[in-house]
Amino acid sequence: MNDDCSEKMRLIAPCGMNCGICIAYLREKNKCPGCRGGNENKSKSCMNCVIINCEELNKNNSKFCFECTKNPCKRLKNLDKRYRTKYHMSMLDNLNYIKEKGIEEFLEKEKQKWKCPTCDGVICCHNGLCFHCNINLLKKRKKILGWEDD
Ligand SMILES: [Zn+2]
Repeated sequence: MNDDCSEKMRLIAPCGMNCGICIAYLREKNKCPGCRGGNENKSKSCMNCVIINCEELNKNNSKFCFECTKNPCKRLKNLDKRYRTKYHMSMLDNLNYIKEKGIEEFLEKEKQKWKCPTCDGVICCHNGLCFHCNINLLKKRKKILGWEDD
């Protein structure tokens, strides 16, 4: 992969998750750098993620889970099931899309899918809200967002 490609997949995790729509990335405070970023401010669930800590992924230096001979493994299927049920997205669908059409088309599709109808910002997959337009509602729920009282 060249540098251009690495930059484009900066926010796309090996499992196919788009970190750009994740609550940990979108929040203002303690913003997570994404699964491919450094560990500083990385959310606990991402630090402990079975995919990021997957020995196959790390051993083979794979960029995405679809490069793995065990794909789709049980862990990925469980993660996929959770996200399909709760957050209207699928890791496996994302991975298939990236594999078939490439990262660029995937990013474009995601941009459209999660675009806020009001401000063209990003809708968070974890709460269905826009961090720009729904900021007051989000502040009320600051505990979920990891915001401290001030
Ligand atoms: Zn908005």
